Amino acid sequence: MRKQYLHLSAYPCDTCAGPVVAGSLAVRENEISKETDVRQVGAICLSCGDRQSTATAPVRARHLLPIAWDLVGVAGAGHSTTPFVEALNRAERY
Ligand SMILES: [Zn+2]
Repeated sequence: MRKQYLHLSAYPCDTCAGPVVAGSLAVRENEISKETDVRQVGAICLSCGDRQSTATAPVRARHLLPIAWDLVGVAGAGHSTTPFVEALNRAERY
C-alpha cells in the first residue's frame, strides 16, 4: 500500500547553537520498496527561527524515526501531495 512518511532530523543552529529541526516527506509504494518522491518541507531553529537547511560539518544531523504521514482530510489526498506541501510552505511564511 502506498504510504507517505515524514522524516525529521535535528542538528545545532550555526547562529545560536539551538536545535534546528528539518523535515522531508517521502513516499513508499509498498512495505519493501525504497522511498521515492523525497521532498524537503522546511527547516527551522526552535530557538532563534533561523532557517538553516543543512547541518554544518563536522556536525551530523540526527535522524528521528520516520512517521507515517497520511493525507487524511487534505484536498487531493492520495492523488498528489503538492497542495499539502504548498499549504505547509504558505503556513511557514506567516
Ligand atoms: Zn538558532
